[in-house]
Amino acid sequence: NVRTRFAPSPTGYLHIGGARTALFSWLYARKTGGTFILRIEDTDRERSTQASVDAILEGMDWLGLEYDEGPFYQTQRFDRYRQVIQQLLDSGHAYRCYCSKDELEQMREAQMARKEKPRYDGRCFGRTDAPAGVEPVIRFRNPQDGAVEFEDLVRGKITVGNKELDDLIIARSDGTPTYNLTVVVDDIDMNITHVIRGDDHINNTPRQINIMKALGFEPPKFAHVPMILGCDGQRLSKRHGAVSVMQYRDDGYTPQALLNYLVRLGWSNGDQEIFSRKEMIELFSLAAINRAPSAFNADKLLWLNQHYIKTLPVEELEKQLQWHIQAQNLDVANGPTVADVINAQRERAKTLVEIVAISRYFYEDFAAFDESAVKKQFKADTADNLQVVHNELASLAEWKGGPIHTAIQAACEKLGVKLGKVGPPLRVATTGGASSPSLEITLELIGRERTLARILRAIS
Ligand code: GLU
Repeated sequence: NVRTRFAPSPTGYLHIGGARTALFSWLYARKTGGTFILRIEDTDRERSTQASVDAILEGMDWLGLEYDEGPFYQTQRFDRYRQVIQQLLDSGHAYRCYCSKDELEQMREAQMARKEKPRYDGRCFGRTDAPAGVEPVIRFRNPQDGAVEFEDLVRGKITVGNKELDDLIIARSDGTPTYNLTVVVDDIDMNITHVIRGDDHINNTPRQINIMKALGFEPPKFAHVPMILGCDGQRLSKRHGAVSVMQYRDDGYTPQALLNYLVRLGWSNGDQEIFSRKEMIELFSLAAINRAPSAFNADKLLWLNQHYIKTLPVEELEKQLQWHIQAQNLDVANGPTVADVINAQRERAKTLVEIVAISRYFYEDFAAFDESAVKKQFKADTADNLQVVHNELASLAEWKGGPIHTAIQAACEKLGVKLGKVGPPLRVATTGGASSPSLEITLELIGRERTLARILRAIS
């Protein structure tokens, strides 16, 4: 039974790269009918914050990456780590190291002088005295010979000689465990079968495998996912724009678009671009993850967002739009239903932020006309023309798109002008600007009272 995990350190928001790793782990679990676990790696107490934990949970929730177990918190498992560290000490796989900073520095310099790669030389291994007043760190005794070999499910076979690996600190002098220890203990205790994570951890993997073996466990399978680059080929960072998942929510992206974008970022299924959640799950495979890093492409994400705004069920968009309606302080109590507005505007917007921004005039009177639109559309005869339109509209029995259209046409006939002469100034008069959905839909949604009052306001 497959068990995967996402194991973020809560030291910031949920990053695009983290979200993609989470997505791949989640997909693999869903695809195989396995279990997806969320583990918060919060042992770095100085850098971990509750706000960041909340941001990660919020991001996972927004993306719909539901976990089957967790969240587990490493800070709640210190007793267990202490127990394992003791076990490693007892079995001779770990030892106390009393080396001072100065001593380590001297060792380093001497190695550099000999043109060797700096590494801890294991001098405290087998030491029996315990210098007074020194709180030791605890190091894992790495095997001295042989090599660690594993088959990375993305990268293929990886072999690292044990001589390359030094004796890693697994507990600090204050007794707190370090990352490589906690990860191993948790991956064992949580029965993780597939570790899917960023390839910035690939150098830790052989060390973790050695610790697992020392504890008598077979290591899980590993899949290291290549990093995400910005458009300049450098590792994706803030410099390249938004990297926080929730920033994309704030900017008006749908989670469907972001998920679809992320799944294609370093994974492919032929040249298919659009994937529903169901399809992603069906088609996903670790083997199809690219070995090469992928570049973040903001235009493509925006294109996908537009696609989803056009095609998602209106109820779904309505749910998502609520947040933006609040964020932009739009009171939608007096006016058309949000669903009707979505249907009218979805072809015209790339983001949910835009949908709200271009829909204000349905709910509240605009403060001022768009000057350039007025200049372009309001001519000498506009007031007279619009008065006739007003009268036709005012006599309508039913305020609906069809009759509204007929009324405008009737006004044009009376005036002996083409629709092109009346339509654009009517739009400016009723919406304040030069662009809106078709006039009949626009006026229907604005409503009778508002439409008539606005025409009179424009020509008075
Ligand atoms: N906590 C680590 C990180 O956020 C991930 C550890 C892992 O996936 O093994 O980079």
